[in-house]
Amino acid sequence: MRLTLHQLRIATQGALPAAIGRGVAALLLLFTAPVAAILWMRGARIRRTPRMGRHGALVMEQTLVNRSGAPVALFHAIPRLVNLAKGDLGWVGPAVQTMGPSQLRTEQGRVAASMPPGIFSTWRLRQRTNVDFGSQTDIDAEYVRKRSPRANGGIILRSLLTSVYGGESRAALTGRADILGLPLDNLSMDQAIDAIVTPAAPGRLRQVSFVNVDCVNLSYRDGAYRNTLLQSALRLPDGIGLRIAGRILRSEIRQNVNGTDLFPLLLARLATTGQGLFLLGGRPGVADDVAAWAQANYPGVRIAGAAHGYFAAGEEAALIERINHSGANILLVAFGAPRQEKWIERHAGRLRVDSALGVGGLFDFYAGRIPRAPQWLRELGLEWTFRLYQEPGRMWRRYLVGNVVFLSRVMKERAKRQLGVGQIQEQVNS
Ligand code: UDP
Repeated sequence: MRLTLHQLRIATQGALPAAIGRGVAALLLLFTAPVAAILWMRGARIRRTPRMGRHGALVMEQTLVNRSGAPVALFHAIPRLVNLAKGDLGWVGPAVQTMGPSQLRTEQGRVAASMPPGIFSTWRLRQRTNVDFGSQTDIDAEYVRKRSPRANGGIILRSLLTSVYGGESRAALTGRADILGLPLDNLSMDQAIDAIVTPAAPGRLRQVSFVNVDCVNLSYRDGAYRNTLLQSALRLPDGIGLRIAGRILRSEIRQNVNGTDLFPLLLARLATTGQGLFLLGGRPGVADDVAAWAQANYPGVRIAGAAHGYFAAGEEAALIERINHSGANILLVAFGAPRQEKWIERHAGRLRVDSALGVGGLFDFYAGRIPRAPQWLRELGLEWTFRLYQEPGRMWRRYLVGNVVFLSRVMKERAKRQLGVGQIQEQVNS
């Protein structure tokens, strides 16, 4: 049988970059081996951690640990270069994992495992900036299907950049994260959706509020809004700013649970449960466009109704009647913060839905009125820079001034806490 040129190209696809990657690792190993030898003489040892390699093969990932078992600072990765040189790990690939080969039972799992796992990966990158939505297997399979030298370069670059403000956390995850006096529900995206679709007790509307940096700043100027946030059933941490604040205040944020990423995942869930959705807000026509988009992309979804957000006070009672008679279980309100949160609170007693969410500008994204930041910017935690670029006139105050004000409040809070700890220690000592 003769191979055509095309078949040959497919069979060898990625072989050259892989060979280059192994060569680079071997070269680096040559230069760093003396360092490893010195550390070894001083008591450092190689730890071998079992990993799932290509097609489910067992791979022993090697790292350098000191006597106490902790990774050696700076140089712990030297022995891993052996894995890279041998090719059982790659520089970029599906995420390294300990998981058993059970994932090989699905098609997605087999695609994800068809390459050696990479020490840089889309999944790990997204974990760093808290945008690791969906399953690891799906993200890995998507990487394998779309991989290219250019994509790999981007993943390495973004991983290095985000290691400055992402990276491994030190603080433990707890159910509540406290950011500047606002207790946040520290849920994953999936857990948040679980909570939102759970039927509420009759007459007990569940108000769901997303809290981003701008909302926190707003809550300092607007006490009524702060109270509205505090009485919400769920407060969900939205955006990279809160994650950074969580790092600084030792109150780790689990995931970036923002409305824009939540919306399609919520639709996917509603398509299976059959619960109805009402879309309220935006300029005339926008909510209808979002409804059409949702219907086209999630055919099982039941859109109970849609209405724009520019109604007169006199029309409000009829609007609420319409929502209540639509059979909607979940209501999205997009008037922008803080108007939407206050509106939901004001009418909570009359709205007969299980959950009402204030979702800000997300209708404008899904109606196609405003393009959303590209994935690579989101992975960097820099979606906000895209909003600033789109509407500098309206956004400069929110982002350029707001972020600085927010960060300075966070630093002040940390200083206050450290002072507090210092005083307690003084008392203990005296
Ligand atoms: N909006 C509305 N009714 C109003 C004022 C605003 O429906 O009386 C809509 C507006 O059309 C836009 C959204 O509310 O779609 C506010 O978007 P913005 O980007 O300001 O919200 P953010 O996400 O910043 O809170």
